[in-house]
Amino acid sequence: MSETDKAQTATPGGDTIFGKIIRGEIPTTFLHKDDVCVVFNDISAQAPVHFLVVPVKPIVRLAEAEDSDKEILGHLLLVAKKVAADQGLTEGYRVIINDGQHGGQSVYHLHVHVLGQRQLGWPPG
Ligand code: 5GP
Repeated sequence: MSETDKAQTATPGGDTIFGKIIRGEIPTTFLHKDDVCVVFNDISAQAPVHFLVVPVKPIVRLAEAEDSDKEILGHLLLVAKKVAADQGLTEGYRVIINDGQHGGQSVYHLHVHVLGQRQLGWPPG
């Protein structure tokens, strides 16, 4: 199934695969872990480096983030920057949050994609 197909059939709500990863129910190598978020490689990498920054709090999607999530959202970007540097992305990288069906979101637990180590095109499909 393509990522677009997955996004069109995914339904918001409930536990997700990322919840299982955060709780340690699925063995995962973490590139970073703290009280607020975890970072791990995307299982279907779209670039030589492609990792996900996922808040421990199961915010369903960006559209449902609240004002009180401001610190979490800021933390995600600062951790994205730190791990990108750790991964040697000195030539730049792309940071993406897919929201909802048209945004191509397939896992309804907010996450930040970071892709790098190749030239990325624009606009996205
Ligand atoms: P979205 O389409 O929601 O923006 O991104 C979800 C991402 O999660 C996809 O890029 C997909 O490859 C990744 N993903 C889905 N299931 C797993 C999994 O079990 N492990 C990991 N590491 N990544 C996953």
